[in-house]
Amino acid sequence: MTADIIDGKAFAAGLRARVAAQVGECRARHGLTPGLTVVLVGEDPASQVYVRNKGRQAAEAGIASNEIRLDAGTGQAELLAVVAGLNADPAVHGILVQLPLPPQIDAAAVIDAIDPAKDVDGFHVRNAGRLAVGLPAMVSCTPRGCLMLLEDQLGDLSGLDAVIVGRSNIVGKPMAQLLLGANCTVTTAHSRTRGLDAHCRRADILVAAVGRPEMIRGPWIKPGATVIDVGMNRLDAGNGKTRLVGDVCFAEAVEVAGAITPVPGGVGPMTVAVLLSNTVTAACRQAGVEVPAG
Ligand code: NDP
Repeated sequence: MTADIIDGKAFAAGLRARVAAQVGECRARHGLTPGLTVVLVGEDPASQVYVRNKGRQAAEAGIASNEIRLDAGTGQAELLAVVAGLNADPAVHGILVQLPLPPQIDAAAVIDAIDPAKDVDGFHVRNAGRLAVGLPAMVSCTPRGCLMLLEDQLGDLSGLDAVIVGRSNIVGKPMAQLLLGANCTVTTAHSRTRGLDAHCRRADILVAAVGRPEMIRGPWIKPGATVIDVGMNRLDAGNGKTRLVGDVCFAEAVEVAGAITPVPGGVGPMTVAVLLSNTVTAACRQAGVEVPAG
């Protein structure tokens, strides 16, 4: 058996086109241009690439996109003052502070300082709490993107057994809440889980968000399962080059699963597309208008 390949790149392109249409409607109907500001502290090369991509894709969708770059020595008070300024700026509907932050800055305090209505990353405790109790919330981009791919692939997820490997606040936990909300029976596994392979083998939906290259092996996967690989691990490919691999051993998994996301080209492109979608939602909620269907 060879699994269907879930084309996250194509799905994300479609989502970005829908977001662009929503932005056009916001402008035409309400004179509203959604605004997103990304704050980058320091020179981390991966973060610079992410921030550049976010800015470019936001601009392509018609979002007013801004970037604030602060040097690596920036103190916490200075960053908090920048966040306060953005909270107060009515043209800024979404604020994203790129993680990781330098060690002198307490990331949790910075996330806590972002106005929850502008927290397009969905990391603020208010948004995490609202998601947990089933209220409308800004939802963390990567898990929301995973849910979209799953619903596109499987339709109704009710009653399916879902196993998430990883319990981080930005991927594993919100993924669990979203799948619970979609009426799955959810298991969240982590580094202390006993018999991880047996848990994985029960899963109709297996989400890997571990950060360990190719840890999930083919025999751990239930035949026909849908596998979502969130992992993004850079391995040395020789010649001074790197290659990107997921948390799932793709070559083995593709022989067992019913459908699987590749790395790259699976979950990765969804994250930025959902960020843009969240920015439109944030702008409409702040303006008190309905989010256009797109
Ligand atoms: P974290 O490091 O924050 O969390 C990793 C989780 O995996 C933890 O809950 C940890 O358990 C668990 N874990 C670690 N080792 C094992 C093990 N041997 N067995 C079972 N569980 C284990 O990572 P993130 O959630 O931030 O990211 C996970 C992966 O997803 C990374 O590869 C990251 O690069 C990628 N990522 C991709 C994104 C995208 O856009 N595609 C966006 C965000 C992340 P414990 O809690 O017990 O320590």
